[in-house]
Amino acid sequence: MPIYEYVCDACGQRHEMIRRYSERDASARCAQCGGEAHRALSAFAVGRGGASTGATASPAACYSGG
Ligand SMILES: [Zn+2]
Repeated sequence: MPIYEYVCDACGQRHEMIRRYSERDASARCAQCGGEAHRALSAFAVGRGGASTGATASPAACYSGG
Protein backbone atom coordinates (compact mmCIF):
# COMPACT_ATOMS: atom_id res chain seq x y z
CA MET A 1 0.00 0.00 0.00
CA PRO A 2 1.22 3.51 -0.73
CA ILE A 3 2.16 6.11 1.83
CA TYR A 4 0.17 9.31 2.04
CA GLU A 5 0.86 12.47 3.95
CA TYR A 6 -1.71 14.11 6.16
CA VAL A 7 -1.73 17.51 7.80
CA CYS A 8 -3.67 18.23 10.96
CA ASP A 9 -6.18 21.03 10.68
CA ALA A 10 -5.76 22.02 14.29
CA CYS A 11 -2.02 21.95 14.97
CA GLY A 12 -0.52 21.50 11.55
CA GLN A 13 1.31 18.33 12.46
CA ARG A 14 2.24 16.21 9.46
CA HIS A 15 1.79 12.47 9.42
CA GLU A 16 2.78 9.80 6.99
CA MET A 17 0.32 6.97 6.87
CA ILE A 18 0.07 3.80 4.89
CA ARG A 19 -3.39 3.50 3.48
CA ARG A 20 -5.33 1.86 0.77
CA TYR A 21 -5.67 3.78 -2.44
CA SER A 22 -9.43 3.93 -1.99
CA GLU A 23 -9.04 5.40 1.47
CA ARG A 24 -6.47 8.05 0.69
CA ASP A 25 -8.95 10.91 0.85
CA ALA A 26 -10.52 9.86 4.10
CA SER A 27 -9.69 12.05 7.06
CA ALA A 28 -7.13 10.82 9.55
CA ARG A 29 -6.66 11.28 13.27
CA CYS A 30 -3.83 13.48 14.43
CA ALA A 31 -1.48 11.60 16.73
CA GLN A 32 -0.42 14.79 18.46
CA CYS A 33 -3.64 16.58 19.35
CA GLY A 34 -6.32 14.13 18.25
CA GLY A 35 -7.69 16.56 15.73
CA GLU A 36 -8.76 15.86 12.21
CA ALA A 37 -6.07 15.63 9.56
CA HIS A 38 -6.55 15.75 5.83
CA ARG A 39 -4.39 14.46 3.05
CA ALA A 40 -1.68 16.82 2.00
CA LEU A 41 -1.15 17.63 -1.63
CA SER A 42 2.41 16.64 -2.27
CA ALA A 43 4.38 16.46 -5.45
CA PHE A 44 6.27 13.27 -4.79
CA ALA A 45 5.09 10.26 -6.69
CA VAL A 46 3.44 7.60 -4.67
CA GLY A 47 4.12 4.01 -5.47
CA ARG A 48 4.84 2.89 -8.99
CA GLY A 49 6.59 4.69 -11.76
CA GLY A 50 9.32 6.35 -9.73
CA ALA A 51 12.46 4.69 -10.97
CA SER A 52 13.88 5.78 -14.26
CA THR A 53 14.49 2.42 -15.84
CA GLY A 54 13.02 3.58 -19.10
CA ALA A 55 12.31 0.09 -20.34
CA THR A 56 8.91 -0.39 -18.84
CA ALA A 57 6.54 2.37 -19.82
CA SER A 58 3.21 0.78 -19.24
CA PRO A 59 0.37 3.23 -18.78
CA ALA A 60 -1.80 2.40 -15.82
CA ALA A 61 -4.93 3.54 -17.52
CA CYS A 62 -7.13 0.68 -16.52
CA TYR A 63 -5.87 0.38 -13.01
CA SER A 64 -8.62 -0.94 -10.82
CA GLY A 65 -7.13 -1.23 -7.41
CA GLY A 66 -9.37 -2.29 -4.75
ZN1 LIG B 1 -3.07 17.96 15.50
